[in-house]
Amino acid sequence: MRVNELYRSLPSVDRLLGDPRVVALAAQHGHDAVVELARTVLDDYRAAIERTSTLPEVAVVDAVVARAAGLRTSLRRVVNATGVIIHTNLGRAPLSREALEAMERVGAGYSNLEFDVEEGERGSRFAHLDAILCRVTGADAGIAVNNNASALLLALAALCAGREVVISRGQLVEIGGGFRIPDVMRQSGATLVEVGTTNRTYVRDYAQAIGERTAAILRVHASNFRVVGFTETATLAELAALAHEHSLVMIDDLGSGALLDTRRYGLAEEPLVQDSLAAGADVTLFSGDKLLGGPQAGVAVGRRTAIDAMRRHPLARAVRLDKTAIAGLAATLQHYARGEAEQAVPVWRMIAEPPEALGRRARRWSRACGAHGEAAPSQSTVGGGSLPGAELPTVVCSVRPPRGDADGFAAALRGADPPIVARIHEGRVLLDPRTVDPREDRHVESTLRALLDGDGAGASGAVPRDEGDGAGR
Ligand SMILES: *Cc1c(COP(=O)(O)O)cnc(C)c1O
Repeated sequence: MRVNELYRSLPSVDRLLGDPRVVALAAQHGHDAVVELARTVLDDYRAAIERTSTLPEVAVVDAVVARAAGLRTSLRRVVNATGVIIHTNLGRAPLSREALEAMERVGAGYSNLEFDVEEGERGSRFAHLDAILCRVTGADAGIAVNNNASALLLALAALCAGREVVISRGQLVEIGGGFRIPDVMRQSGATLVEVGTTNRTYVRDYAQAIGERTAAILRVHASNFRVVGFTETATLAELAALAHEHSLVMIDDLGSGALLDTRRYGLAEEPLVQDSLAAGADVTLFSGDKLLGGPQAGVAVGRRTAIDAMRRHPLARAVRLDKTAIAGLAATLQHYARGEAEQAVPVWRMIAEPPEALGRRARRWSRACGAHGEAAPSQSTVGGGSLPGAELPTVVCSVRPPRGDADGFAAALRGADPPIVARIHEGRVLLDPRTVDPREDRHVESTLRALLDGDGAGASGAVPRDEGDGAGR
């Protein structure tokens, strides 16, 4: 065919838009976006003809359909088979059914977010969490903001701006994603006074640093690392006593903060919010979406005067919590109030899951792998800046990848829809059932079967789609 004929053989935009598959794309992504995509694809085809004097092999309509993948919203569900329960990159805590329902109820319509229904007048969004936070933690007052980093920023801005905050050098930590405690502290307008050394800080180090301009002592929980060996830290009770002797505020950033005792599951101790308050903290800070198991939020509980000062500060408006998050957080806290958190909150359900049940699922997954898979003992971790180094015994599906290509096989798993994220260990790809919702098992099994069918060499990249039985949380 001559080049001119090749150009003429290309379909018009209108004809493309008449194709049933393109009609479906337009319904999904909007007419204009699909028209623009069709034009771009046609331009690329014309450029290819000009360059090579031949027509690309793929039909134009197929190219449009393939490229439409780039139009879908990018945030989507993935299956977390890593065994890391609170995985910050994978969205931290999955929410309970009740939390999701509460978020839907409030999100789908109007609410009394800032309205006092009884009095018929303006109310406060902070009122909705105050009582339940007090009930489950034993505090006088509570407030929740956008996340724990903003809770820390707000606490320092409201209680310490223009004055000094004493902190141990061993606690000037980076939490993840380049988020460093000292940087947040500086943004608040407070001046940081570092005391002690990386491994040893005594109460007397704090005492010597206290002066006219001191506003608070800050303790930051070493949530993502451990200092072992020749170490010394002052206890919170000692620091709180020192703070109160000098009329200072004791601020305790727990990071994850747990309301239930992690030692019951054979894990290391994670400080309890209740213990922090009982030891004398005036403000205790923790995340909503770490071990609490709720939506993204930062919670501050403690003395009413301190919490009120945080509410009144102008920054409170800038870091305020959205109505659906308030609803989800309140519903999550209700699980604790009712004493049912271990069954109802997914994070705790995963922590409490016995190895026998995990073993049954790992063996079923392994059977789907044929000769390539076997069930093997391994360790799950809590993650998310809590319990560094603490592990839970689990049973994983251990896959010996085709051609020994672990990276390639892990990538093929991520190519499934929804993507399955696994972990690689010593050349094997490990899938841990602990962090996978049992409703997602079918998808995991059919993906493994499709990728490892026969001798496994035929991993064709043709990965199945989940039928969508509501497994999406
Ligand atoms: C995780 C963490 C934070 C930050 O919490 P976000 O909710 O992610 O903002 C702050 N301090 C400590 C000690 C943490 O572990």
